[in-house]
Amino acid sequence: KSCAVCGLSSEGTADEATFFSGNALDHDWGAWMPNGDGTHTRTCTVDGCSAGTQTEDCIDANKDHKCDICDYIINECADDNKDHKCDYCGKKLTEHSGGKATCKDKAKCEFCGESYGELNANNHSDLKHFPAVAATKTAEGNIEYWYCSGCKKYYKDATATQEIKQADTVTAKLPGDTVKPGADKSPQTGDNSNLLLWIALLFISGGAAIGTTVVSRKKKYNR
Ligand SMILES: [Zn+2]
Ligand SMILES: [Zn+2]
Ligand SMILES: [Zn+2]
Ligand SMILES: [Zn+2]
Ligand SMILES: [Zn+2]
Repeated sequence: KSCAVCGLSSEGTADEATFFSGNALDHDWGAWMPNGDGTHTRTCTVDGCSAGTQTEDCIDANKDHKCDICDYIINECADDNKDHKCDYCGKKLTEHSGGKATCKDKAKCEFCGESYGELNANNHSDLKHFPAVAATKTAEGNIEYWYCSGCKKYYKDATATQEIKQADTVTAKLPGDTVKPGADKSPQTGDNSNLLLWIALLFISGGAAIGTTVVSRKKKYNR
């Protein structure tokens, strides 16, 4: 077959003729038109030219989903590998979403599994309650408090709104016998002899007081 107007010979049928490269320049081609199936076709615009038809596969070298030649949309964005980006053109399709941030960990995206966003200082990962412990003479006690190992902070209340210092949770030892090394094991007799000495001193001073009263009374009578 050959083009009725330009006279070039071609291969194939009249519907889909393929001209040898170089010779095809002699046709006056129209614009490439999409066929809707991933191919595009152009035809010779010269009146009466029946052989000038070219059909090619659409191509997308710049990876924008559109045929570089006819603008036909070959495929849509898709994200099969779940990285929020189109696997084909790299465009961002979705944002991280879901999951819950705590005081220790960022929220984990339910879609891709990555951590994202900021910590949430008000959502404690591990808030534990510690009941009050009374102090004794030998050991410090503590007030009732809550401690979060996630943010390593101490709180005065169960809702963790009043932060306190670790030192604030400690209550001092009870006053009383100061514990000296060996004090508990000192011989009993030592303590008793001290006590007797005190009693003796009391008697002596008491006796002295009584004596002075008697003396002053006697002085009054003498006048
Ligand atoms: Zn032609
Ligand atoms: Zn095309
Ligand atoms: Zn895409
Ligand atoms: Zn994500
Ligand atoms: Zn915390």
